[in-house]
Amino acid sequence: MNKTILITGGAGFIGSHVVREFVNKYPDYHIINLDALTYAGNLENLKDIEEKPNYSFVKADITDASLILQIFQEHQPDGVIHLAAESHVDRSITNPTAFVMTNVIGTVNLLNAAKEIWKDNYEGKRFHHVSTDEVFGALGDTGLFTEDTKYDPHSPYSASKASSDHFVRAYHDTYGLPIVLTNCSNNYGPNHFPEKLIPLCIHNILNEKPLPIYGDGKYTRDWLFVIDHAKAIDMVYHQGKNGDSYNVGGFNEWQNIDLVKELCKQMDEKLGRAAGTSATLITFVKDRPGHDLRYAIDATKINEELGYKPSVTFEQGLSITIDWFLENEEWLNNVTSGEYKNYYDTQYEG
Ligand code: NAD
Repeated sequence: MNKTILITGGAGFIGSHVVREFVNKYPDYHIINLDALTYAGNLENLKDIEEKPNYSFVKADITDASLILQIFQEHQPDGVIHLAAESHVDRSITNPTAFVMTNVIGTVNLLNAAKEIWKDNYEGKRFHHVSTDEVFGALGDTGLFTEDTKYDPHSPYSASKASSDHFVRAYHDTYGLPIVLTNCSNNYGPNHFPEKLIPLCIHNILNEKPLPIYGDGKYTRDWLFVIDHAKAIDMVYHQGKNGDSYNVGGFNEWQNIDLVKELCKQMDEKLGRAAGTSATLITFVKDRPGHDLRYAIDATKINEELGYKPSVTFEQGLSITIDWFLENEEWLNNVTSGEYKNYYDTQYEG
């Protein structure tokens, strides 16, 4: 093995696709997946690669500074791709402290461990921090987030991610730590946890439950297929300029209501139901406090500097996603029992 890369949060939604991409594409890298296996982490997401000789798993919590340092000392990673996070905005509104602990303190613990084992000899080393476009705040009807857009987070989730981004840059500016950052738009795809809009709606259509849409449904998000995000991370990790950040997106904006209607249309076709059946489940619910109207990414830099281009359109990616959920109903049933069910009941039915 000519390189060891430690990927945090590899049992989660995006992390599992990044781990798979790296394990399959780079047989000469040793890929270590470090994850605490919270409610959002699921090793089932990696069943197809768990036996590969270049893959291993370490269960650890990034808030535990001494354990993290010990793991870094033992495995001596050349690179870190950091995705572990508390990631759900609604949960951040009910329990912000958990977001500070994992997203801020956890990130600083990883930066300290990398700095310690690399000891200012940064040749061939890289810390890639994976972040979100939500750090930039909200847009009006026009405009796009560029890499130079001023940070303006509104939710405890985006505030914690913004803080972690600042720490990553501060370690570059202060200690010279070799870093890159990516700020990506909303992801969707296989293995997506059903507290998020698209898998939640797929689950509820299958179970003929209401499809909860916040406010008037006009909130606009920019969507990227998760495997295309994993490919962008691979590209930036290997070719991104030291100290730089890259916005990742597919120039693909949808208002929530239009997205859910497209999803209902595809679900009716795939389930052999009469057109319009699923759309009758659409239910408008009380808005989330501090809800940002619109996010949209300007991905010109990654497109032009690194030649990045998403591989699928939204309609194609959505179709692949629905097919995956229909073929993996057991996965969906497993994650929608237990702790998640209690959470769902208090959010939408309490
Ligand atoms: P996720 O919630 O599906 O997965 C997070 C993973 O981190 C889980 O496997 C969980 O077990 C692990 N984790 C949580 N706390 C931990 C801790 N204290 N120690 C170790 N592991 C811990 O999240 P996701 O949607 O895959 O997002 C991954 C990253 O990408 C996050 O940093 C998120 O901010 C960012 N991001 C997400 C999106 C999106 O649309 N989902 C978009 C842009 C950026």
